[in-house]
Amino acid sequence: MKRIAVLPGDGIGPEIVAQAVSVLRALERHGLALEIAEAPVGGTAYDAAGDPLPQRTLDLAKAADAILFGSVGGPQYDALPRPKRPEQALLRLRKELGLFANLRPAIVYPELVNASTMRPECVSGLDILILRELTGDIYFGEPRGIRPAEGGGREGFDTMRYTEAEIARIARVGFLAARKRSRRLCSVDKANVLETSQLWREVVTAIGAEFPDVELSHMYVDNAAMQLLRNPKQFDVIVTGNMFGDILSDEASMLTGSIGMLPSASLDERGKGLYEPIHGSAPDIAGRNLANPLATILSAAMMLRYSLDSEGAAGRIEAAVRKVLARGLRTADLYEAGTQRVGTREMGEAVVAALD
Ligand code: NAD
Repeated sequence: MKRIAVLPGDGIGPEIVAQAVSVLRALERHGLALEIAEAPVGGTAYDAAGDPLPQRTLDLAKAADAILFGSVGGPQYDALPRPKRPEQALLRLRKELGLFANLRPAIVYPELVNASTMRPECVSGLDILILRELTGDIYFGEPRGIRPAEGGGREGFDTMRYTEAEIARIARVGFLAARKRSRRLCSVDKANVLETSQLWREVVTAIGAEFPDVELSHMYVDNAAMQLLRNPKQFDVIVTGNMFGDILSDEASMLTGSIGMLPSASLDERGKGLYEPIHGSAPDIAGRNLANPLATILSAAMMLRYSLDSEGAAGRIEAAVRKVLARGLRTADLYEAGTQRVGTREMGEAVVAALD
């Protein structure tokens, strides 16, 4: 029996997670043994308990084999002090659970090639994986703050920091992922300017000696940002630090043109993970049966693959998603003439029906 903690969160989170849960329940009817328990997170948890990550939610997440997460945030929470903001729940979960490796596939489905703003020949067949370090770098480095500046006024400052051990750990995940794909790993840094990146490049190169079967290349982040638009298919797996990965993975996701389609995984050292769509809580469409649930459903597939050792069930979900897209079903974000427009619930139901 595998234990899944379901944290729907805010905005469209509850709607899209409900569809992913019905897909998992449908697989249960086909013999998958799951124990699914739900808890509040983000603004919803703040409203209920004054804390975006209540202890009960953290305990549930810690005890689970995997976490299915919706999304958090909303304009009504923007003025809260930082520790009370919904996104703190996600940052704390990552830290508390040691979720240091963020995997983001960017895949262009043949049926959706026109959703991209890029020319079809540039992105058709695109299938790349961006691996972002998630618990270090300038987002967590100390000291940081805003202080009086020497010449008058104030100055803001942050610290970019990576230890050798942190770099080696994410590099190994990168090499292992590349080994399962086409054995090419591109490490992205800014070693021409940053000391942190210089160490990053040294350590990744050293770890590369353990993986002689994987071809390692290095690229500066500014060039990588450009190459992702110029010729994205040159990449297979990209490994990079927290801030560069934050930016590049969003860029890569937009190559596909469909923010509602992209799942993600954040893994610890033993393969336990938190799975979530890459998009946010979309307050502009929340509660209106408009959101695309496929990124969350595909996140559940990644969960089965990476944390629950159920490759077969993962493949079944992915095949079902392809089937409903091939049948022409589209939520509003992907709708175009000649396709059939459906709501969040109808899309979820179609995937469940396509599992058989
Ligand atoms: P967003 O991703 O929520 O929305 C961007 C645009 O994409 C919106 O127009 C939205 O309607 C659309 N969109 C997003 N997901 C969709 C889906 N599944 N189907 C159809 N359309 C979809 O980003 P934002 O508007 O910048 O942020 C809104 C809130 O979400 C903010 O409070 C932000 O902090 C939060 N956020 C949370 C996460 C997370 O929980 N991991 C990530 C990003 C943003």
